[in-house]
Amino acid sequence: MAARIPVTLIPGDGIGPEVAEATLEVLEGVGAPLDFEWHTAGVAGLKKEGDPLPKATLESIRKTRLALKGPLATPVGGGFRSSNVRLREEFHLYANLRPARTLIPGGRYEKIDLVLVRENLEGLYVGFEHYIPIGDDPHAVALASGVNTRAGGRRINEFAFDYAVKHGRKKVTLVHKANVLKALTGLFLETGREVAKKYEGRIECDDRIIDACAMQLVMNPWQFDVIVTTNLFGDILSDLNAGLVGGLGMAPAGNIGADAAIFEAVHGSAPDIAGKGVANPLALILSAAMMLDHLGMQDKAKRVRDAIDHVLCVDKIRTGDLGGKASTKEFTKAIVSRVK
Ligand code: NAD
Repeated sequence: MAARIPVTLIPGDGIGPEVAEATLEVLEGVGAPLDFEWHTAGVAGLKKEGDPLPKATLESIRKTRLALKGPLATPVGGGFRSSNVRLREEFHLYANLRPARTLIPGGRYEKIDLVLVRENLEGLYVGFEHYIPIGDDPHAVALASGVNTRAGGRRINEFAFDYAVKHGRKKVTLVHKANVLKALTGLFLETGREVAKKYEGRIECDDRIIDACAMQLVMNPWQFDVIVTTNLFGDILSDLNAGLVGGLGMAPAGNIGADAAIFEAVHGSAPDIAGKGVANPLALILSAAMMLDHLGMQDKAKRVRDAIDHVLCVDKIRTGDLGGKASTKEFTKAIVSRVK
């Protein structure tokens, strides 16, 4: 019998526990030999352990080096720093892999199959920011610094080109704003072009300025294959890509680094629908399929994706965000019965 693999499970906040439960049912249905260690983070961590990133959670990931994570709520403006960002930093999860694939034909865009590789540790998300008070206004001026390094640029571009080779992709597009942020994103572009030379003849490479890229993704997304970009641009473009294939409910992600890998949905905790039993669990289920790929269980990952395609397109069972009427539980039940 195959050895069982320990995985840290963080159900998360808002709709997190609902979509995590659905995902566990599908993983069990497909017979994935995984043993989950349940932990908290985000608001749930703060409530249970008095810490949005409890020590026990970190220790578990240090041991398993693998986590499946629901969305974590982060206060806007003030409050604690994003536990997602801290997790990425703690485990050096430098690559954020966000595929977007059309699952339901007949939408605004057909046959989308894009992969976005986002640099996950540098850029404007390093959190070097502060206010300068003037007179009686404590927030008179806001300052933020971005940090990109040559080593970080090389690492993420190599990840993107390597991914393209391993997955039979043809082209990598480097996305930047080197016309204005000449140093910060110019360095990213420079390293991207250096890396591209090593893959000449195998992987085509071009580049786009972020604003033009956003427009072209809406006008003609099929011209793109793999996109690699810096942290902030990647965060924004991956939501755009999710929009091309029907919204956040279907967008999975993997945060991959040398020390660990954490798989999570792109969407947040969706407080507006939390507890109502209507959340679409697909994004986390698809993230779990990426985790199975990462573990070398491509056959099981394929079974999960095939079951999803069948339920959506043949059985036509869908959650409300996809125009259907199924609850989270009904939808999950349909996938589990197909995956078996
Ligand atoms: P959100 O993704 O939670 O919600 C945006 C909209 O999409 C909402 O209308 C929501 O109902 C809908 N939606 C999201 N996921 C859905 C699903 N699975 N099924 C059906 N509808 C879905 O974004 P937000 O409202 O900007 O953020 C809420 C919280 O989540 C914030 O605290 C934010 O910091 C956090 N967040 C966490 C992560 C993460 O943990 N990776 C990512 C993004 C946002």
